[in-house]
Amino acid sequence: MNLKKDDNILAVDGKNQPTKQGVEKFALQLSEYVGKEIGGLYVSNDALKKVTHMTIGGYEENKIDETNNKGVSALRKVFTITEITEKIKFRGHYHTHPRGSTNASEADIKMKGSYIDNYSSKLFNIITYPMDYNNGYTQIISY
Ligand SMILES: [Zn+2]
Repeated sequence: MNLKKDDNILAVDGKNQPTKQGVEKFALQLSEYVGKEIGGLYVSNDALKKVTHMTIGGYEENKIDETNNKGVSALRKVFTITEITEKIKFRGHYHTHPRGSTNASEADIKMKGSYIDNYSSKLFNIITYPMDYNNGYTQIISY
């Protein structure tokens, strides 16, 4: 798995699969390690619309305060074009923020708006570490 150049996708919350929270925490640890935001999509192939997959966008084009890649291309690793156009739902997206950065930026709000308009997405999370805690306590901020 090349996390810098490639988009990746993981099935979540099923048997022998990582949890959503586990992937979010991994993204945050990776973000601290490489000094860039990490972001991805919450995806559902489920009629009940629960999140079944999460993408992790390759971080090469991301910055310390900017997620430019949410890993859309990784969908092709597990789904057919027909599934992507007809079945898959974008439930929302997540991205990490640097430690203590708990507010959604203007760009975050704008992106959220476009996901609501285009995909009726509902789940938007910022993943960060609170300034006054050591690593290990992950703060998930819905915005
Ligand atoms: Zn942000």
